[in-house]
Amino acid sequence: MADGCSCQATVPASVVAAAWAQELGRAPAREDRFFTFVWDGGQWLGYGLRDGGVRGVYCPEHNARRTERSSEPSVGVSS
Ligand SMILES: [Zn+2]
Repeated sequence: MADGCSCQATVPASVVAAAWAQELGRAPAREDRFFTFVWDGGQWLGYGLRDGGVRGVYCPEHNARRTERSSEPSVGVSS
């Protein structure tokens, strides 16, 4: 995988490719986008490309952290 989290958790590329292929089969992607899939008891996050390739993958732990961060309310800057 060219991109993704840098921790030791790994998932076979074939599993990720199959999950993305399933996504594309359900709804063809008009642009590169993130997709989630369950493997080894956790929810992984992958970044799929329109041509069927996968650019990177995040392990369940980093996927959760990413989600946490993005849902944080924006903090106002004190003047
Ligand atoms: Zn990770």
